[in-house]
Amino acid sequence: MIFALFILGLLVGSFLNVVLFRFETGETVVSGRSRCNACKEMIAWYDNIPLLSFILLRGKCRRCGMRISWQYPAVELATAGLFALAGSTFYVAGSVDAALGLAFALGLIAILLVVFVYDLTHMEIPVSALMAGILWTVFSLLLLWYFAEPREALSDSRLAEGLIGGVVAFLFFYAFVFFSRETWMGMGDAWLASILGLVAGWKLLLPALTIAFGSGAIVGIALMAFGSKGMRSRIPFGPFLVISVLFMLFFGRMVKDIWLLPW
Ligand SMILES: [Zn+2]
Repeated sequence: MIFALFILGLLVGSFLNVVLFRFETGETVVSGRSRCNACKEMIAWYDNIPLLSFILLRGKCRRCGMRISWQYPAVELATAGLFALAGSTFYVAGSVDAALGLAFALGLIAILLVVFVYDLTHMEIPVSALMAGILWTVFSLLLLWYFAEPREALSDSRLAEGLIGGVVAFLFFYAFVFFSRETWMGMGDAWLASILGLVAGWKLLLPALTIAFGSGAIVGIALMAFGSKGMRSRIPFGPFLVISVLFMLFFGRMVKDIWLLPW
């Protein structure tokens, strides 16, 4: 089961690379086969196997010898690893809840990886990915609430917690964006933060934001210390929000136990 999810992750990761590439070129996702970026040669199916082909070709195009970006195998491996982790975290045989939870996690992981890589490389988040993430999460919370056994009242459900968390997180970041006139953060960050709020729920919003800002601060300081970024250079914040969403997705229950213990 875990192994099957790993393989599925490699395939989905390969598809995400296509999505990312098409976001850059503006082509639609469905049009045409993959080509080498340098020589435009069609890539044969046996040179297009996720991860494996990159290793066998030693990261070079078979025809022109141009280096293939490490981004391709990295996205494939990250998707595969996270899919396998989701399988081991969420899957309980025969449980509808668990199956729904797993399906939700897989979809969200795929969307967030696109956001992560695109923001890291372009300092911008594709609006379509953000909207897909928000709709997917709200839809999943609705389904999970609807099929929950035993039925819970809407008022104290995960769904209500998530919706409140999403709105609060959005408004919090919107204030940042508004008062800094988009110099600290952009609207993309605010929409992404609403996904964090939906996934974490308002009760866990504070630890979730601490993880995002904390990891951002650690990486920012590390980059300055090693001299690759100056005080004034910009680092996209989206990837840190993504890290926090994934952390809450996988370890939310653990965070809840620790965080809510004293109250
Ligand atoms: Zn080539």
